[in-house]
Parts: sequence; structure tokens; C-alpha cells
Amino acid sequence: DAAREALERLSRVIPDFPSPGISFRDLTPVFADGPALRAVTDALLEPFAGRYDVIAGVEARGFVLAASAAYASGRGVVMIRKPGKLPRAVLSEDYDLEYGSATLQVHDDELPKGTRVLLIDDVLATGGTLAASCSLIERAGWTVAGIGVVLELSALAGANKLPGRDIQSLQVV
Ligand code: 5GP
Repeated sequence: DAAREALERLSRVIPDFPSPGISFRDLTPVFADGPALRAVTDALLEPFAGRYDVIAGVEARGFVLAASAAYASGRGVVMIRKPGKLPRAVLSEDYDLEYGSATLQVHDDELPKGTRVLLIDDVLATGGTLAASCSLIERAGWTVAGIGVVLELSALAGANKLPGRDIQSLQVV
């Protein structure tokens, strides 16, 4: 279909980025192409139709997709951000990276309890980022309606960190 065709045509593999030995999947050409961004956005939303109230995006590439999906569906965006960016009281979740650790934060008073949140990101790699995001959503009193990603890197087995979640990936490599 249109989204998968656009991904095949436009996404790039960048060797040794951000460090030697890593093959980085670059989706910026997909974001830069209007029909491709629209097709990918529609395909991310389609499996979850009628099951979410708001879209959550993870800083920074997830914001592009979340905003596009929010506009397309008439919903709002919840921003899951790196530390020190959100101005009011936050929940924080620390998680492990391959080397080191990271933190994500959310304003927990942004939405009513029980709000159904569709979580969107560009790439599911080790799954740490999305697992931490799910924790934030649930600690805030909301529910995770599902997880939509453009690309899933199956060798990193990120889905194992997200047991029981409805994960929909447009492309699995
Ligand atoms: P995680 O390992 O936690 O699943 O992924 C960490 C973050 O890095 C996610 O937000 C994911 O989007 C990003 N990421 C990891 N590998 C890649 C990649 O190859 N390409 C892109 N565009 N993002 C990546």
C-alpha cells in the first residue's frame, strides 16, 4: 500500500551513526515528503480507529508523527519529553539504554483519568523508550490504547519489553 511503498522508497540506512557499528534508519525523507507523511500517518492510525482519545508522541521524532496523527484524527497531543523541558509538575521515568540511562517526563495533569492514549513513535528498537512511555501514561492514570510505530527493528526484540501491548508496526526489518 501507499505507506509501505513510501517507506521502501524513501527511508535510508546510515552506517556507523550515531556511533561505529550502528546502522541508523533515517526516516527524515519520509517526513519531508507530503504524500508519504500523510500515507504513513493514516496507516499508523488505521488499526486503532475508535479506540483512542489522544495521541502521545515521544521527543523528538515522535512529535512529528504525533502532531500529524492528531490533526488527521481531530485529537490532541500529549508530549513525552526529555528532562527539564516541561514547565509544570511532572512524572519522571528512568530507563536503561544500551550504554547508560535516560529519563522521560510528562505533565500528569494534562488529561482526565481514564483517557485512552495512543502512543506513537518512529522506531521500535530495544523498546526501552516506549516501555518508559507506557509507564508514564499509566502512572498518570490514563490507559495505553496501543502503540503505533513506523519501523520495528526485530533483531533488538523491543516487543519483549512491551508484553500485552497492542503494537502495530508499518514495517518490520
Ligand atoms: P529504543 O531502543 O528505546 O527502542 O529506542 C530509542 C529511541 O531511539 C526511540 O525513540 C527510537 O525512535 C530511536 N531509535 C533507535 N534506533 C533508531 C534508528 O535506527 N533510527 C531512528 N530514526 N530512530 C532510532
